[in-house]
Amino acid sequence: MDLDLPDRLQLHKSEGFPTHLLEMPPQDLWRHLPGPTLFHIDGHRASPLFVSVLLHGNESTGWSAVRATLARYTTRGLPRSLLLFVGNIEAARRNVRTLPDQTDYNRSWPGTLYGSMPEALLMTDVVACVAAHKPFASIDIHNNTGWNPHYACLNRLDEPYLYLARLFSRTAVYFERPLGVQSAAMAPICPAVTVECGLAGGAEGIAHAVEYLEAALSLDHFPEHPLPDGDIDLLQTRAIIKVPDGATVSFDGTDAEFRFRPDLDRLNFSELEPGTALGRLGGSASRRLVVDPGAPGLPSSDYFSYDNGEIRLTRRAIPSMLTKDERAIRLDCLGYLMHRIDRSGTLKD
Ligand SMILES: [Zn+2]
Repeated sequence: MDLDLPDRLQLHKSEGFPTHLLEMPPQDLWRHLPGPTLFHIDGHRASPLFVSVLLHGNESTGWSAVRATLARYTTRGLPRSLLLFVGNIEAARRNVRTLPDQTDYNRSWPGTLYGSMPEALLMTDVVACVAAHKPFASIDIHNNTGWNPHYACLNRLDEPYLYLARLFSRTAVYFERPLGVQSAAMAPICPAVTVECGLAGGAEGIAHAVEYLEAALSLDHFPEHPLPDGDIDLLQTRAIIKVPDGATVSFDGTDAEFRFRPDLDRLNFSELEPGTALGRLGGSASRRLVVDPGAPGLPSSDYFSYDNGEIRLTRRAIPSMLTKDERAIRLDCLGYLMHRIDRSGTLKD
């Protein structure tokens, strides 16, 4: 790896897990770690579970859940070895998703659009180290900025991937975009999922993530028999909704180019009918939402109409991750549109 990179951009490795970190809030990690760190913690079964946390610095649930899980096993030892990647401690220090001079830590993994950035070299390094340990499975823990149920995301529909997703939630989202995410990079190596644990800091999200980590660490092997169809609700991300660069937004009725309804994020994971209003155009009413296909080969469909300045859905869809957080909207997107699929990936509606 490039030795000119500063510590904060290089992968650091640690055997074991220092117990003083069990008490450490994410904002203080930078004082104790030289940079992004991969911990190898021995357990009874050698093939490790790979877990990544804090790829987004303000999404603290993963770190809280890992600390709680490790604390429970300090005397008896982990049932399975754990490879723990603690990611963006610089962003965690400031309690932000990503610092302005960084590339998003969950858009930088192999397959990324930003392959020449230092963050991409870092993630390539992480994948190589993890792959060398022949991991059992991979879990990347996140939070949302809007109201969402807890759900798992996956990039393959093979049985063990579905099983790993179902172990967290009966709702599972299959996605191919955005590129450069951890679970897509790990998918060729082992069953891999991203889990979304609701709003950062929520006690319920932490408890759910702890329960999930314990279940995954205790799993001896993935079952041979297929998961029954009725056990999992599969959705596919078909479109990514973005607000055009520089456009103004509001959620409280004040004038802006996009005046979204105040309860926008409450629409997440509900089946919306054509004609459902997301808000109104304001200002000169000339701007339009950007709708990118959620997978290669998908048509860039017109999901929205703007008659009389009202932003309405033109077809049935199920939104996810709709957010009222302006920073998240600018850094990432307004949200996603999904459709139900079966386990072969075929649309159900
Ligand atoms: Zn995230």
